[in-house]
Amino acid sequence: MLHELPDYLRKKHTMLIGLWVAKQEPDMTIFLQPFVNQANKLSEYGFKWNNKGKEIMSKLFPITCCVDSPARCAMLNMKRFNGIHGCTYCEYPTVKIDNVRKYPMIENIPKLRTDESVKRQMAFAYYKYCSSTQSKQVDVLGVWGPSALMNLKHFNIVSGMIVDFLHACLVGLTELHTNIIFSNVAEEYYVGDPTKTHLINQRLLSIKPPTCVGKTPRGITERNNWKASEWLTWLLYYSIPCLSGLTKKKYIIHLSLFVRAMNILLSDSITPKMLHTANELPITFVFQFGQLYGNNYMHYNVHRLLHLRESVKNWGPLWAISTFPFENENKLVLRMKKNNSVVDDIFIIKMEWIMDYNEDYSMEEINDLIEDYETFEAGYNSHIENLLKPNGMEHFYQALHLKIIDIYTEKTDNIPN
Ligand SMILES: [Zn+2]
Repeated sequence: MLHELPDYLRKKHTMLIGLWVAKQEPDMTIFLQPFVNQANKLSEYGFKWNNKGKEIMSKLFPITCCVDSPARCAMLNMKRFNGIHGCTYCEYPTVKIDNVRKYPMIENIPKLRTDESVKRQMAFAYYKYCSSTQSKQVDVLGVWGPSALMNLKHFNIVSGMIVDFLHACLVGLTELHTNIIFSNVAEEYYVGDPTKTHLINQRLLSIKPPTCVGKTPRGITERNNWKASEWLTWLLYYSIPCLSGLTKKKYIIHLSLFVRAMNILLSDSITPKMLHTANELPITFVFQFGQLYGNNYMHYNVHRLLHLRESVKNWGPLWAISTFPFENENKLVLRMKKNNSVVDDIFIIKMEWIMDYNEDYSMEEINDLIEDYETFEAGYNSHIENLLKPNGMEHFYQALHLKIIDIYTEKTDNIPN
């Protein structure tokens, strides 16, 4: 995703740079190393291209990465969030509650991780591994060892990993909070009995949202099928009015801290004063979360709220960089999965074209590649439906100039199984 494009364009022109096709999770070193190599070349040497006769030199700098928590831990070669030091942003020592690692508020503020501290821990973990007689891997404060990303120039492996509010706040914390209040029958905050549920459903279904919201609300009893965008509207707009009067005021006030913080962090522009407020609200919310619902519910998604403000301070409002656009792209991949004989070829071609860039190319060769790629993109979009029909691939190739196929054919031997 190119950050210098306006928001509506950057979401429209996301680029696929790699696809891991296997039943197992990817080996992140193998998966990331080609990207790191190419990205370093592009940030150091840049590339020349031609825009209507004018020669332009551009450089690409990889500065942020937005993925869910399991992927972030794997990319950084760190312990998952259920480890003793499972937070990739701070050195919080998790606490075992009911045999599971949790994140209750503690008196000592945990030390924040930095690019330098994590890289030092990566090197130390590797040293410990090499000096171990049994070649046993031992973590250093949650860091297992080196990551391919430590060699990515201009990239900060702590602050560059943006907190993804889709997974952390919506399908993470908002869903957790809703499930807690709708499922714990014996608790005073319980609102899941038939009478209250019916009333909440009535309130929800009577809401007629403006077109900018998109979907009309579905009943709270259908929440297992809610998409992230529905969790967003529930949190920001529906939760407080739907729950009001059905639970004690202190629970509504507590929830409003989170709602207010998210409203600020999702604003079009955020002043330092707003950012300060958006820092205090989550601290109070997280502190009271343990008091109101119990430390048993102090999951990583609750703790991660404490790191949102830093992410927004560094990179802008939450809407600017999230996994929403990538989740939408995933739908395309899933749709094409129905015809998998075609899918692998298409994505390998697209990936190969991008990876094929070489700074030794002449201007003419680069222009040829750009022209091919534009043709490829145009063909890709207009013939996407034909691809899903029998013999679609043949039709697709015919619509393109054949150099793309040449690139594909030449490199077939090098494509990993
Ligand atoms: Zn943390």
